Amino acid sequence: MSAQILDGRTVAKEIQAELAAEAAALKEKYGITPTIAVVRAGEDPASVSYANTIKKTFESQGFGFRLHVLPETAPQEEMIKLVKELSADPGVHGIILQEPFPKGWDEARIKESLDPAKDVDGVHPVNAGRLAQVAPVGRPPGVLDYFVPATPLGGLELLKRYGITISGKRAVVVGRSNIVGKPMAMLLLREDATVTICHSRTPDLGAVCREADILCVAVGRAKLITADMVKPGAVVVDFGVNFVDGKMVGDVDFEAVKEVASAITPVPGGTGPMTNAMLLKNVLEAAKRQQNL
Ligand code: NDP
Repeated sequence: MSAQILDGRTVAKEIQAELAAEAAALKEKYGITPTIAVVRAGEDPASVSYANTIKKTFESQGFGFRLHVLPETAPQEEMIKLVKELSADPGVHGIILQEPFPKGWDEARIKESLDPAKDVDGVHPVNAGRLAQVAPVGRPPGVLDYFVPATPLGGLELLKRYGITISGKRAVVVGRSNIVGKPMAMLLLREDATVTICHSRTPDLGAVCREADILCVAVGRAKLITADMVKPGAVVVDFGVNFVDGKMVGDVDFEAVKEVASAITPVPGGTGPMTNAMLLKNVLEAAKRQQNL
């Protein structure tokens, strides 16, 4: 039987409508428009395209959007100065640093120049550290005022909105980047899954993946996950974005795996739209926290 499709596009629309209503109320009551600043150096095509998507999403939902682009040849200090200025600007509630940074830039120093309270993609070490420290759901909460990267947050929200049980399940996350794999693993752990993280040095990836009740993949290689690597009935969350013959595909061989899995995210239309919705959510949350609301 074919898997249930976890329709990120539809769920993201519902979430965006909820957030747009909240943003409108914030504007009416306090005169605040939750605003994001997107910052990058250079014109990496994927970054340009992502910034355009953010602009479209934010402006269509009544949020503010600002774009700051430095030349790729700019010195790193110029970026640090800009990030500090935006961090101090009361009209900006959230900041996104688009990568890749120009060669030779010190990634850690740039991220650390962000105000963690405006770090709506959870890249500052304070936010990443708090995610690692936060108590499991249902236990006395740890620090709550932190931000989680929008992509894994969206993946988790999609599972929750479809009522998929996470607690007690075996979860496998393929990929260990700071922006997708690692935070996804932390979120699943917080939800009481038993979590394994795989990466490029994991031997026999298929054997580990076959143990998963929930399989999350964030690698960036088309068809890395084939049907024989998936346990029958598993839930599969595909974060991958790849282009094959001009067509966007994920990391999972969707057509074959959907015949084995019980639920699966499509690409496009799965985790991608959820990322945009979670970015709105984080910016709204940042704006509220900055007003002590
Ligand atoms: P990175 O390149 O930063 O990380 C890729 C990870 O995959 C690394 O941990 C790497 O391991 C691991 N990996 C590489 N090859 C293999 C392999 N053969 N077997 C197992 N693991 C492997 O990518 P990102 O995390 O930034 O992005 C991952 C994917 O998600 C990309 O396709 C990206 O475009 C997409 N993406 C999607 C978003 C969305 O909104 N849906 C948002 C952000 C990204 P190692 O650490 O050992 O190198």
